[in-house]
Amino acid sequence: MTTIRLARYSLHCSTLGPGVRGVVWVQGCSQRCPGCTSPEMRDYNGGIEMDVKELAEKFDASSDLEGFTFSGGEPMDQAEALTELIEELRRRRNNDPSFMSYTGYVFEELQKNGLQSHQKFVSNIDILIDGPFIESQYANLLWRGSANQRVYFLTPRYKTWESRINEPGQGLEFEFDENDVIQWAGIPPLNFKENFQKLMEQQGVNVE
Ligand code: SF4
Repeated sequence: MTTIRLARYSLHCSTLGPGVRGVVWVQGCSQRCPGCTSPEMRDYNGGIEMDVKELAEKFDASSDLEGFTFSGGEPMDQAEALTELIEELRRRRNNDPSFMSYTGYVFEELQKNGLQSHQKFVSNIDILIDGPFIESQYANLLWRGSANQRVYFLTPRYKTWESRINEPGQGLEFEFDENDVIQWAGIPPLNFKENFQKLMEQQGVNVE
């Protein structure tokens, strides 16, 4: 049984990749990007452990997804488990879904020094967004919030999006999780999280 250490997931997201997607935010990241938008996802002991098959099954409730996006946390740290998840999702969905992933690593570094598990994971990805978030390079760009982050179209599937990568981002989406906590997905403006949390706390609403 292979498990994933998971921060959270979304069954329906339109802000992190082409079309409507399932999103998995993995738990654990060794990078320390100043201004990190998900510091609660850096601790390797946080989140929950979930069996790959159980996680794939959660997405059965959303039959209309175009694909899946992996964020975090650092997806590359769980490359092996995520590759298994990709295989399981392909099995369940007639090989149709596309896959996109973020990584704090720089792509050239991964190609040169990446582990075999990293290479295998990347070979299953249609779109890779590389590089750490750098607060001083904040920019509102398609699917990313830092000008150093590059978008690699690794398969032909989304080549037509190439001319759009410098368009503004697709905004933020909000949803309630099973514990009635508000979750958000997308690339937030600087200091969004602190300001939003303060505002919601004043209304007595929990936000993560
Ligand atoms: S790679 Fe992502 S999760 Fe990790 S520190 Fe940087 S912004 Fe935060």
